[in-house]
Amino acid sequence: MVQNKKTSKISGFYKLPVEKRIEIVNNFSNLDKNEFQNSNLDIQTADRMIENVIGTLKLPLGIAVNFLINDKEYILPMATEESSVVAAASNAAKIARIKGGFKTEASDPLMIGQIQLLDVSDVAGKAKKILDHKKDLLKLANNQDKILVKLGGGAKDLEVRILDSPIGKMIVTHIIVDVRDAMGANAVNTMCEALAPELEKISGGRVRLRILSNLADKRIVKAKAVFDKEKMGGDKIVDAFLESYNLAVIDPYRAATHNKGIMNGIDSLIIATGNDFRAIESGAHAYAARNGQYTSLTKYWKDKNGDLVGEIEIPLAIGIVGGAGNIHPKAKICKKILGIKSAKELSEIIASLGLAQNFAAVFALSTVGIQKGHMSLHAKNIAVMAGAKDEMIDKVANKLVKEGNVKLDRAKEILKELK
Ligand code: NAD
Repeated sequence: MVQNKKTSKISGFYKLPVEKRIEIVNNFSNLDKNEFQNSNLDIQTADRMIENVIGTLKLPLGIAVNFLINDKEYILPMATEESSVVAAASNAAKIARIKGGFKTEASDPLMIGQIQLLDVSDVAGKAKKILDHKKDLLKLANNQDKILVKLGGGAKDLEVRILDSPIGKMIVTHIIVDVRDAMGANAVNTMCEALAPELEKISGGRVRLRILSNLADKRIVKAKAVFDKEKMGGDKIVDAFLESYNLAVIDPYRAATHNKGIMNGIDSLIIATGNDFRAIESGAHAYAARNGQYTSLTKYWKDKNGDLVGEIEIPLAIGIVGGAGNIHPKAKICKKILGIKSAKELSEIIASLGLAQNFAAVFALSTVGIQKGHMSLHAKNIAVMAGAKDEMIDKVANKLVKEGNVKLDRAKEILKELK
């Protein structure tokens, strides 16, 4: 059942001028008239975010439309430099909504912190001793973050691993922390540092590393959608899709590109919301290799109607409080555009976008090929590089695409001819 009357199915959004698009976004997301335009990152704020600042770098910010996720309508802000990504996501979401859109599930927001202990004699005995102190250790960890505990989060569990390495055996203690609406790195790192001296006392060993793991395999999000076979072009196209997909299952060379397509969407939304895309990237790829061979983060199969079912399963360590997303004015507005209430809701949108993006890429590869979609915007960039301005940009780009020869040399020639 659709909860709200507004719809993200906005046809012809791409044909509108920028001002009109902003007006639609303002209305959809209840933003004040100039809120979006006034949300740029100023130099003073940037200077507090990182070191040695000399300026800021802008990226194109687009809106993906048509997303229906858990029966709720969303428009998605995407910051990316790559052409076709936003259009592809919107198209995939349009197909997915025919059969009800995306359905998701997410685990609790559990992050892992690691504390490495060296020079421990009797590692098995000391590992057991650490576990015997679990209650006290969790209490000590939770003393570091009263806010998190008050919100129902905090350190929940402790695990101990014994690892053999070229420099000898070591004990690695994992602290499992429910980080609620945060990404959690600072929160977890603080807890790890607080536990380190206590673990040294218990084990008689020496602590080296005390840091969060980016393999957030206890913070997993799944999104699923059914893609209508008729809209895809019939049984043969669904079969072609599955043939393409299966190479990503068995071959890391293909899986890397397949998963890159997923991250085209995911990173764009991660960046737009001020989240840490390196954390998401490393977690996603480590998870894709969790069974010993790097493979696809998505799965596809045919249901009994012959429609294509797609599913993504991915760790998503993202937050809506803390980090840069709480400082960057545009990231704050992007979260408002999404209308999210929790990190869980954001993670479910991100997973759905990853699936949409992957579907779009494999669909294009299985039919017309990837270049067709890429070429029209790419041709415009080439036209600009050749020196075209204003209405000349479209004229040169159209001719390049028509000739199937999107090259700088040819763009320069066409520009000369047209002038
Ligand atoms: P943070 O410390 O800025 O914010 C989290 C804190 O906010 C919590 O500890 C809690 O005290 C408070 N809080 C208030 N309301 C909350 C709510 N509803 N839910 C949860 N917490 C709430 O940020 P963080 O999320 O701990 O850390 C994220 C930052 O750490 C990112 O900028 C990331 O880039 C950076 N970082 C990442 C790594 C890594 O990935 N390996 C390492 C170090 C730092």
